[in-house]
Amino acid sequence: MRWSGQELGVEQSGALPGLAKLNNLVRSVQTPDFAGVTFHEVLAKSALNRVPGQSAMPFGWTINPYRGCTHACSYCFARPTHTYLDLDAGDDFDRQIIVKVNVADVLRPELAKPSWRREPVALGTNTDPYQRAEGRYALMPGIIEALASSGTPFSILTKGTLLRRDLPLLVEASGHVPVDVAMSIAIYDDELQHSVEPGTPSTKARLATVTAVRDAGLDCSVFLMPILPYLTDTKAHLDEALRSVKAAGGTSVLYSALHLRGAVKPWFMQWLERAHPDLVPKYRSMYYGTNAYAPKAYRQWLGQRIRPLIRAHGLDHGREDPVTGGVRSSALAGAPAGGQRAPGRARLVAADDRLPDSLSLPPDPSALF
Ligand code: SF4
Repeated sequence: MRWSGQELGVEQSGALPGLAKLNNLVRSVQTPDFAGVTFHEVLAKSALNRVPGQSAMPFGWTINPYRGCTHACSYCFARPTHTYLDLDAGDDFDRQIIVKVNVADVLRPELAKPSWRREPVALGTNTDPYQRAEGRYALMPGIIEALASSGTPFSILTKGTLLRRDLPLLVEASGHVPVDVAMSIAIYDDELQHSVEPGTPSTKARLATVTAVRDAGLDCSVFLMPILPYLTDTKAHLDEALRSVKAAGGTSVLYSALHLRGAVKPWFMQWLERAHPDLVPKYRSMYYGTNAYAPKAYRQWLGQRIRPLIRAHGLDHGREDPVTGGVRSSALAGAPAGGQRAPGRARLVAADDRLPDSLSLPPDPSALF
């Protein structure tokens, strides 16, 4: 076993104070293949997370095999979740990775409960299930098999090219349940991409993954998120992005402007000060005080700029939900258009221009885990 020689369930004496809260830490390990990264292997008590009903988050059930993400995107909205472990939302989020090593084992009995209604489950809506750690731990195959064999539809959103490893499994799963795959590719400028998302696969590699998904016979949406004001919102960049997605075989595009919530804002602003100091005053005026979202006027301007381009590139045929404005899960393909929204269904994300000026987010984002 991976933790051979360790006494399960016993807190490690060298555990970071916040991690001791987990109470189910198996061990903390470092490996030369992941310089500067520590994996904290835990035994999860459950795998399925119910997103609180009052939350503005656009999905009902999630599975997150990892907390923290070595993709290290400066704008990552999941960063604040690390602070609930007394870890910081900056470097610690990128380098202290919690791994639920038994996630598939606890998922199976949860899916077998008579009370489980086989509502769609979203993966990748918080941290990335195909981050580099997945190459070491291989948790996704067990999750995919468990969901498919239980008759549970699911969606995967990722920046990880490691998804290709599981394409045969996903194709097989799609023969049993609706499976929605989306790649997140927001930046089509190599220097900027490497600077703001230093741990992610290149844009080219992610586009090649879109092509691989399509070649395998599955649809693949592309999430053009976040669009960075003054950096990636030029007509030229958006046009290049959409041309590349179309050429790669992407089936639809969803977009949204950058939002900066809580502890993400100072971390992102530190990056901006280093990389684009000239833009700091502009960002400060857009995201002033506790404002998490770009101003409504900007979002409307962005919508007017990008929508005709999306149409021109033939990428506007995502399954939009007429009730919610989000992506319509293929699990609901047979549901009546405009009908009642199924409880807890997976709606991937709301279109940007539909966001209100402010959203009430759950007070404790760790509830999403
Ligand atoms: S890939 Fe996703 S989860 Fe990972 S750091 Fe980037 S935005 Fe966050």
